[in-house]
Amino acid sequence: MRPRRGLVSSSVWAQRLRQLEHRLRTKEERIVVLETENAVLHLKLAEYEGLAGRSTNEVLQLYAAHGQQMKFQRSSVVTQLHGAIKRLKQDLKSLHSFALELSKDLQHQSKTCLYQVLAAVQGIQLQNEAMQMFQIKAFDLEQSLQEVTERYEKEKQKRKALHNSLIELRGNIRVHCRIRPLLPFDDAAGHSQDRQRNFSEKVAYAADDETILVKCSRPGHASVNKTFQFERVYNDLESQDAIFADVAPLLTSLLDGYNVCIMAYGQTGSGKTYTMLGPQLEGNLAFTTEEESELGIIPRATQEVFRLISEKPPGSYWVEVSVVEVYNNEIFDLLAKDSCGKVFGIKRDVVTTREGKSDVPLLTHETVENASEFLHLVNKGLQLRVTHPTMVHAHSSRSHLVVTLTITTVVFGDNFGTLWEDEQTSQRLNKEASFTFTQKMRDNKSTSSSRASSPVQLEATEKMKQVKTRLQLVDLAGSECVGMSGVTGAVLRETSFINRSLSALADVLGATAEQRAHIPYRNSKLTHLLQDSVGGDAKLLVMVCISPGQKYLTESMQSLGFGTRARQVQRGQIKKKNFPVPSKGK
Ligand code: ADP
Ligand code: MG
Repeated sequence: MRPRRGLVSSSVWAQRLRQLEHRLRTKEERIVVLETENAVLHLKLAEYEGLAGRSTNEVLQLYAAHGQQMKFQRSSVVTQLHGAIKRLKQDLKSLHSFALELSKDLQHQSKTCLYQVLAAVQGIQLQNEAMQMFQIKAFDLEQSLQEVTERYEKEKQKRKALHNSLIELRGNIRVHCRIRPLLPFDDAAGHSQDRQRNFSEKVAYAADDETILVKCSRPGHASVNKTFQFERVYNDLESQDAIFADVAPLLTSLLDGYNVCIMAYGQTGSGKTYTMLGPQLEGNLAFTTEEESELGIIPRATQEVFRLISEKPPGSYWVEVSVVEVYNNEIFDLLAKDSCGKVFGIKRDVVTTREGKSDVPLLTHETVENASEFLHLVNKGLQLRVTHPTMVHAHSSRSHLVVTLTITTVVFGDNFGTLWEDEQTSQRLNKEASFTFTQKMRDNKSTSSSRASSPVQLEATEKMKQVKTRLQLVDLAGSECVGMSGVTGAVLRETSFINRSLSALADVLGATAEQRAHIPYRNSKLTHLLQDSVGGDAKLLVMVCISPGQKYLTESMQSLGFGTRARQVQRGQIKKKNFPVPSKGK
């Protein structure tokens, strides 16, 4: 068996060898092919290498050319850039110098500003200090002002009390006497029985400031000198200024809460209207500056009242005016207007109110703001005043003219202690205030248009009261006897009314002098109208006007008798009040 097995394996090996030899030949063939290809490739490579060598040269040339171009380009850009840089540098330089200057400037300015700020701060500090000082000073001043105001108030009250005492010492009724100068019309012959005498001879003289001397002579008798004493006697040379100087203190009393009446008494032509109004003011109030010195008591008193009011707190006072004429015992409202606004006198009546005051219902009261408004109104009123030429004087007034200024004082608070220290006045005015307050409210319901123009809205305040004081300025009608004026008929009737009212006035003054319980105010419209300013604590000044000529002796003596009688009232009052009799000095 064994040799068989060896035969098999050697054939396998031979086959195997053949296979390997075949594979070897295939490989060798393949190598040859590859070597051929390789040679071809080498050739191609050599060719390409040649090509590549040529291209590199070209590239190098191109590169060189490109490099040169670039160089060229670069150099021009560089030049440009250089220029630009140069310019930039220059700009930068100028910018730098500008910035430098600017910063220097800014530095300088900021320094200046800083100094200014510092100075301002210092100033403010100083001002603050000064302000503080001022505040302290202002506070001190305020305090001292308050003290001074309080002291002033006290002094004011004292002044009022003293002023009133002074006026009372002088007499609540004062009688002054004015002798006018002799005038051309004094030469004309009168109706005296005694035609042999020199009519223009002067018989009345001011012996001194308080005495008037009258030479009384009758035919066949030795002349007798009679003297009369008054609080003040004015000679014929004394000016309107001098007259008013003695009247002015009464106006202070008016604003202190007292009613005041100033009246001129005397025969026609004795200077009543001249004294009360002035020469230009009877019917014509247009006066020049020079004529202003001739103004009488009425315009001057009004000016003084407004001056006194201007010293008071604004709005606390207002003034109303009424102008009436008492003619033939009738009262005429000279400021009343009809529906067309035309002025004409309307008859009014005087009544006594429940409170015992005199009142003229529906009387026109015009509110005035100053003296010229007042004069304008009075002028309007005067144009209606009834005049009638008598034989004594061509412009004699046959009526009593009563110009009334009503001063309304607005008082705040519960009492008048602050305004009127003196207990009596304060109480009196307290009573009157509540009266006038309600009265005013009533009046306003049926008021005349002019009343409505007063500041009634002020009355709305409950704590506010109104006090009214009156200044009555009276130009009385002539006091002459009927026989002397040479009148008859209607004029005689006029004269008789005038004489009756004047004697009623004398009776009122007489009754007051005797301290009678009943004062006959209601015997005439004149006294009824003047009731509140004649008697009581009202201040009355009677200006007795005297014509100095012989021709008027009888009338002058009558007027001096009236003045003397009125003056006794004052004496009576002083005695009653235990005041010392005033010394004769002015
Ligand atoms: P009465 O009003 O009393 O009738 P008047 O005032 O009209 O009197 O005066 C009569 C005249 O006398 C007027 O012309 C007036 O100018 C003049 N007269 C009065 N008093 C003086 C005086 N003191 N000084 C100058 N003239 C006066
Ligand atoms: Mg007159």
